[in-house]
Amino acid sequence: MFKFQISIYFLLVSIFLVYNAVFFNLFSYKQANFDTENNKFEPPVAQNSAIINGRLILVLIDALRYDFIFESNVAKEKLRMPFVNRVIREQKAIPFKLIANPPTVTLPRLKALVSGIIPEFIDILWNFNTTYLAEDNIIRQFNLQNSPVIFYGDDTWLKLFRPNESFVRYEGTTSFMASDYDQVDFNVTRHLAFELEQTDWKVMILHYLGLDHVGHIEGPYAPFNIRRKLHEMDEIIKKIYSNLNRNDLMLVLSDHGMANEGGHGGSSHMEITTPLLLLSKGLFGSKFTYADDQKFNSLIENIKEKKQIDLVSTLSCLFGLNVPYHNKGTVFLSDLTEYFDKSLRNYSLEANCLVRNWKQLDRLLDLGQHEIELVRMLDKKSLADAEEFLKIKVESKVKVENIKSEQNKFLILLILIMFMLLFVYAIDQSNSRPFTNPFSCLLALLIFLSKQTFIKALLFTF
Ligand SMILES: [Zn+2]
Repeated sequence: MFKFQISIYFLLVSIFLVYNAVFFNLFSYKQANFDTENNKFEPPVAQNSAIINGRLILVLIDALRYDFIFESNVAKEKLRMPFVNRVIREQKAIPFKLIANPPTVTLPRLKALVSGIIPEFIDILWNFNTTYLAEDNIIRQFNLQNSPVIFYGDDTWLKLFRPNESFVRYEGTTSFMASDYDQVDFNVTRHLAFELEQTDWKVMILHYLGLDHVGHIEGPYAPFNIRRKLHEMDEIIKKIYSNLNRNDLMLVLSDHGMANEGGHGGSSHMEITTPLLLLSKGLFGSKFTYADDQKFNSLIENIKEKKQIDLVSTLSCLFGLNVPYHNKGTVFLSDLTEYFDKSLRNYSLEANCLVRNWKQLDRLLDLGQHEIELVRMLDKKSLADAEEFLKIKVESKVKVENIKSEQNKFLILLILIMFMLLFVYAIDQSNSRPFTNPFSCLLALLIFLSKQTFIKALLFTF
């Protein structure tokens, strides 16, 4: 019995040491991040590095599936979003698909959209309850450039940022009741008429929740309400579009899709695949026309896929901003600017964007001594090749990081299991001799000292 107790002691102490080593590691990792937040952000880039000089309008429709908005082989009178269909046909809008990382829930997806970050196990463990976005992001970059941002919609945004510092005007809507399909959207739309007349903002963000609510309760095949909400959204897009200036860029997008069974959160194809539509009155030249149905259907069936985290670097480039510090996405300019009106193309600005994205990712991930190769490709005017080169370099780095993260996850799990075994043992001991057993006292102390992370890890893992 005595020998057994000694070995338990030994086990306890070693677990305690490993536990502390791991969490000290994680803690210092986070500390390093906060340090960069406070001190090492770069000054804003020069104003004349913007490819687009107009305004940016983001219309985020929560849980908008790509098949809701991109409809092929559908008779005109049966289209759910006839205006969207028309502008794509007329080359006034360019469609993409954005692939989101799971979990397909709103908060992490919004973080990915505005900052290009992929939360790892460690981040989730450490930030279990924090909604506030400590990482650098595009709203912050617009603010640094003195470009006023206005926001109306899902109040998650107001928790993500410090609204008084980030937005010149804003109002949040709460998704308090999922059965509310209309009021929650009306509370966004009622600001439109006023805001479309104002000239003091550079960026307008709208986040509509009604469609998501329908999806949660009735699913994506609800015969009446899905069509009704999509039609309402189509009218809103039309209204905003008709008020655009020639150089404005409007984006219609979503944070995540919707499962065939309704709702979201998982990693099914329809949940992770989201639509992105870029609309403008004057930016895109008429390189192609899709008047005939066959061409149009083939366009819709072959829409290019990008990653959700790639959007923020691309927008930063287009609007002449620094790519957010913690971004892990890469720009997709070449697939976009090929649609631009020839008079608006400026290759040196586009190449410059890619170099900025490279420098930012190199600082974050250490891409090695390859910048010279990138510059050589850019000198040969092969923007697409250079983009692909950057993408491959980043993906291989992120893969290594993921393996490390998996190893950490395994270690933490192992420690948790040992903790639980000891817990059971300690309870067993204290039952026979309450408060006299040194193991149970020590264990209770350990659990008390580390309870916050312990509980977080426990909640997250199971
Ligand atoms: Zn959502």
